[in-house]
Amino acid sequence: MSIDLDQARRRFQMLLDEWNLKFFGGRLFGWRVLTVDDGKARWQGQCDPDNKVITLNLHKAAPGELEAVLLHELAHAASGDGHGGRWRHVLQELQRRGAPTGRIEDHVQRD
Ligand SMILES: [Zn+2]
Repeated sequence: MSIDLDQARRRFQMLLDEWNLKFFGGRLFGWRVLTVDDGKARWQGQCDPDNKVITLNLHKAAPGELEAVLLHELAHAASGDGHGGRWRHVLQELQRRGAPTGRIEDHVQRD
């Protein structure tokens, strides 16, 4: 069964828009989600701040992991940071507020 990339893209775009209001006070307005199915890539997600695009690689993440991947990338978008302290702080704050981040310790592996 092939992955329905466009259906997934719409679902994660809705989540982005919802979380933007709930957790980021609307600061991430205009950010878009793209979905790919790339078995050769090593990454689960990517954040492109110049184009305000977050790309989720559905091939590399289990369905239940993709919410955490999206939050990981949104933390990059909001912090303008790599995997440093500002990025980690945003992710920890998301977790504290009930966002499905998963274990923060697992996160540097995602991209
Ligand atoms: Zn990252």
